[in-house]
Amino acid sequence: MTNPGMMQLVLDLRSNGVADPIITAMERVPRELFVAQAFQDRAFENAALPIGHYQTISQPLVVAQMTEALALNDRCKVLEIGTGSGYQAAVLAPLCRRLYTIERHKPLMQEAEKRFDHLRIHNITTRFGDGSKGWPEQAPFDRIIVTAAAIDVPPVLVDQLAVGGIMVVPIGDDHHDQRLVKVVKLNKEETEISDLGWVRFVPFVEGTPSE
Ligand code: SAH
Repeated sequence: MTNPGMMQLVLDLRSNGVADPIITAMERVPRELFVAQAFQDRAFENAALPIGHYQTISQPLVVAQMTEALALNDRCKVLEIGTGSGYQAAVLAPLCRRLYTIERHKPLMQEAEKRFDHLRIHNITTRFGDGSKGWPEQAPFDRIIVTAAAIDVPPVLVDQLAVGGIMVVPIGDDHHDQRLVKVVKLNKEETEISDLGWVRFVPFVEGTPSE
């Protein structure tokens, strides 16, 4: 690891309690490839940055916390709602068997796909569209990660989570910070919900924009 920006970011993540395997996973993904030219000098700041279409690449500490909360293993089939830049997906993909990711802004999806190709990440399946319906054809998923703030835990996504599966989702409206919530599906009827703290995400929006 030679990049001084990345070294500082690693120290920052470590001082915030992020575990070593998650730090290693993040070190492997060059965040500068996921941000526009204008933000290159800020690519290793522990901050969310604009990616166009009023969307943001998530803050590295939040990417780390969500990744950790998912407790992935190489047998996991994972669904992500909100591909955005593709950064979170690129961190998750090497830690799981297959990642399905949905984005409602077509240009963002196309840019993310190019990045996955460039980085030779081959276990990501992308879909352009509205993630509020999940991905029924591929359900159930062992893990689900929502990277946009929902008002409530989406029941459709709980349905598509395997028994024993874990979902992480920011809950709250976009005028305020939200709570990051971890949902464990105990059986077909019951879930166990825990609160992982404050986060700030762009809103989960139903439908696709007309572009
Ligand atoms: N995981 C991303 C963060 C992207 S920000 C990253 O690492 O860069 C959240 C993204 O969720 C935005 O790109 C937004 O367009 C998308 N989004 C919001 N609501 C959605 C929905 N219903 N279906 C699919 N994508 C959605």
